[in-house]
Amino acid sequence: MTRRQDTEVQHALVAFGANLPLGDAPPEATIASALAGLQAEGFELGRFSGLFRTPCFPAGAEPDYVNAAAQFFLPRRIDAAGVLAALHRVEAGFGRERQLRWGMRTLDLDLLALGDSVLPDARTQDRWRLLLPEEQLRAAPDQLIVPHPRLQDRAFVLVPLAVVAPDWVHPRLGLTVTDMLAALPEGERRAVVAL
Ligand code: ATP
Ligand code: CA
Ligand code: CA
Repeated sequence: MTRRQDTEVQHALVAFGANLPLGDAPPEATIASALAGLQAEGFELGRFSGLFRTPCFPAGAEPDYVNAAAQFFLPRRIDAAGVLAALHRVEAGFGRERQLRWGMRTLDLDLLALGDSVLPDARTQDRWRLLLPEEQLRAAPDQLIVPHPRLQDRAFVLVPLAVVAPDWVHPRLGLTVTDMLAALPEGERRAVVAL
């Protein structure tokens, strides 16, 4: 995956999700435009997973999600906060309004990982990663947590991520994306279908 000296660039892994049309644009088109939007922010695309369809999460609400993942090369002058700010700018440009957590949205961009960085520190990442689901719904982090605290639990993240970065190792779990995906129930993996 390394194309340049590690001192010059860092690898960012980003998750895309959308389940509401934006005007006439279906979620598939929004994700394609968001990919271009991130490239306009200076994110150099390494690999894109293609699009996947995932049943809505949490179960019950409609419509289904469209999900994807991408690996980017980033100049080191863009720090983690700068990466998140760029993701939020692109979300805002595609009609995302921050209302209901886990609710329907035109576009959700999550920073899954930044190389092997653990932010803000290992203890805090561990605490958010180990929160029970009902606590996760009540509490949203007001600081950037990297790796994304729930990536290891979500087939809709790991299935696309396995296309772009199967060998990335979670710096706190010591597991590759392939390992984390294999640890999920088969039914959850099979529910995420390439479009
Ligand atoms: P989830 O985080 O479970 O995927 P969500 O994407 O619906 O839920 P948002 O409402 O988009 O949650 O974001 C909640 C907060 O999480 C935001 O304030 C954001 O700044 C913060 N956050 C912390 N770590 C990350 C990260 N790695 N990527 C994106 N947002 C993050
Ligand atoms: Ca999310
Ligand atoms: Ca988000």
